[in-house]
Amino acid sequence: MVVGARPNFIKISQFPRVFKKYRGDLQCKIVHTGQHYDDKMSTVFFKQLGIHPDFYLDVKPGTPATQMAQIMLGLESLLSTRYRADLVLVVGDVNSTLAGALTANKMNIPVGHVESGLRSFDRDMPEEFNRVLADQVCDLLFVTEKSGEANLLKEGKSRKQISFVGNTMIDTLVAFDKEIKRSDILDKLSLGGRPFVLMTMHRPSNVDTREGLRKLQDLIGFISRRYAVVFPIHPRTIARLREFRMERSFKSNKNLFFTEPLDYFAFQKLIISSSFIVTDSGGIQEESTFRKVPCLTLRPNTERPSTVSLGTNSLVPFELETIAEHIGRIESGKYKKGKIPPFWDGRSTERIVKTIRQFLR
Ligand code: UDP
Repeated sequence: MVVGARPNFIKISQFPRVFKKYRGDLQCKIVHTGQHYDDKMSTVFFKQLGIHPDFYLDVKPGTPATQMAQIMLGLESLLSTRYRADLVLVVGDVNSTLAGALTANKMNIPVGHVESGLRSFDRDMPEEFNRVLADQVCDLLFVTEKSGEANLLKEGKSRKQISFVGNTMIDTLVAFDKEIKRSDILDKLSLGGRPFVLMTMHRPSNVDTREGLRKLQDLIGFISRRYAVVFPIHPRTIARLREFRMERSFKSNKNLFFTEPLDYFAFQKLIISSSFIVTDSGGIQEESTFRKVPCLTLRPNTERPSTVSLGTNSLVPFELETIAEHIGRIESGKYKKGKIPPFWDGRSTERIVKTIRQFLR
């Protein structure tokens, strides 16, 4: 399994456990590319989820192309000398996903994609290219929701390659439910029992310009009149706030609780304890749907449409008036209650490993 970024780590937690059951005929090794490398974006997840990388490629920070080139060189060398895999699994939609899929394909090793087929149809998102291109070279396509199946068929993939298995990110939530509920993050934040809104924002389209950050500041100003706003801040967002010298003015809002990126248990505890969520993340749309917590996604599109059609997620334009309308609906109890999408049941990893066993036979 090739993983490289925070959302990848969270999606693979159950693979070592499930593969262990088939120890006699199958084993799995985790390759960490080093795309996300520090304690807060990487190490803490491995520690909490009880997994560890078997190989570390140690790519250096750099442009996407430089990083992908390093991953491809490192992975090719690993797979041709130290560990000859029968199948490579890649996960999600980050640069490590595409680099891993291309390398295995060039080496004639079959590749499986966990979380295949998701499409935002928004070519301004770097992740969309990673998704589309990775799927083109993958042999086994594991989809989390029905839309994935339809997208892949339209792109010419064959039905035989596609397995609708559900969502391995939910497997992790289910497996660590007790630890999540025990997290002491609420005491640590000293919110004093006040209702709070959980916010994350890191997509280039929202945080890469001064105007985008100003809009965000106005929105936080608006929400924080009635709620505490807890905002674990992504490294990309804090870098932009510093670049535009806006960190101080954000921090002058006393109802805004900025934190560093949080560990998994703490963040999940905040999801279940929040009044609602405001985000532009991919994964958080799914976690909030599973928890049935209202989620306002400030993007024009989503690659995860079942969170909107079945779940508690809504796509909302970044306009105060429309956001306020949604908040009004949440407060008056008129917001949709949501259903959990099919196969988001904690057993998706099992389904994937079963399919892989059949394929390798
Ligand atoms: N997450 C976390 N701590 C944080 C923020 C997010 O553990 O401070 C988790 C979140 O619950 C989800 C994943 O990280 O499982 C999503 O990562 P991110 O939003 O960076 O990526 P995306 O899903 O947008 O690709």
